[in-house]
Amino acid sequence: MTKKNKIEKLIPFLDELFPQVGCELIYHKDYELVIAVMLSAQTTDASVNAVTPVLFSTYSSLEELANAKLEDVENIIHSIGLYKNKAKNVIGIAQVLLRDFNGVVPSDKDLLQTLPGVGNKTAGVVRAEFFKIPDLPVDTHILRISKRLGLANLEDDAYEVEMKLKKIIDEDRYIKTHHQLIHFGRYFCTARNPQCEKCKIKEICNKK
Ligand code: SF4
Repeated sequence: MTKKNKIEKLIPFLDELFPQVGCELIYHKDYELVIAVMLSAQTTDASVNAVTPVLFSTYSSLEELANAKLEDVENIIHSIGLYKNKAKNVIGIAQVLLRDFNGVVPSDKDLLQTLPGVGNKTAGVVRAEFFKIPDLPVDTHILRISKRLGLANLEDDAYEVEMKLKKIIDEDRYIKTHHQLIHFGRYFCTARNPQCEKCKIKEICNKK
């Protein structure tokens, strides 16, 4: 079976399981989304949502964030993984946005990646979520599922998987499929206990 054939079986199953999906991170401003996505690396959206309301109410503008004391930001976000580095990035993102972008988050992928802590995946998520620019950033769930389904090679990294998925998924489905695959990985095809007995795409899965 070709990878394209596998996608033709996968997409309807994702539509059945998760017809309505979207970003689970809470944000109200463009830079809040960038910071929330950066904070979500190697931790759950729920744990990010537990700290960002305090962070963004304590510092309610980019200027306030840019001038925040590192120790105070660390204290607010200390419950999430890698908080020390992420606290530096929170302040750094605010400073670079003010210094280089007049306080407005850019939509260009390369420019987004000039922000501290923002790599290809975070930039892709911001573009898809805030600017609605078709993109299919690959997180840990999408990486695992793509390999289980044989849509990518076991040794592929996230960027290589992203490129492979983009070749076999229609561009107008990138954003929806991105969210659906994350949900599939979080709630169905989980890392440790995938629900293989209920899975309707077993025939295309290498794990089973
Ligand atoms: S058969 Fe199991 S491992 Fe394969 S896609 Fe379905 S739930 Fe995931």
